Amino acid sequence: MYVLCSLCNEQTEVKLSRNTKMPICGACGGEPTISSFMIVSMKSNSDWWETKKGQAFSFKCEHCDETTPATASDDHVVCSVCNNDYSKMSAIMIRTVKGILQKQAADAPPQPDA
Ligand SMILES: [Zn+2]
Ligand SMILES: [Zn+2]
Repeated sequence: MYVLCSLCNEQTEVKLSRNTKMPICGACGGEPTISSFMIVSMKSNSDWWETKKGQAFSFKCEHCDETTPATASDDHVVCSVCNNDYSKMSAIMIRTVKGILQKQAADAPPQPDA
């Protein structure tokens, strides 16, 4: 759900954390203050920061000015379109996303023979 984040003042995608059940901002990785009504609405929409297998995390890229799929690169989480860092992403969020991307890669089924 697109919400104006109370922490970074970005109109950005906010979803719920599976662990804390709290809303997490896709731009800064913080916990913005949003109404309980919106949290309930996110739950009913399954707006969780957890992606189905093979589906990428998407964040607002300051370089493309669009919401783009994230990809892990060394110690960074970068935009898979322009390969730049998500400049507003917090260190905690980078760690979280990296961990999930790496787990996804590890869980990915082997490529079928062509
Ligand atoms: Zn934010
Ligand atoms: Zn980009």
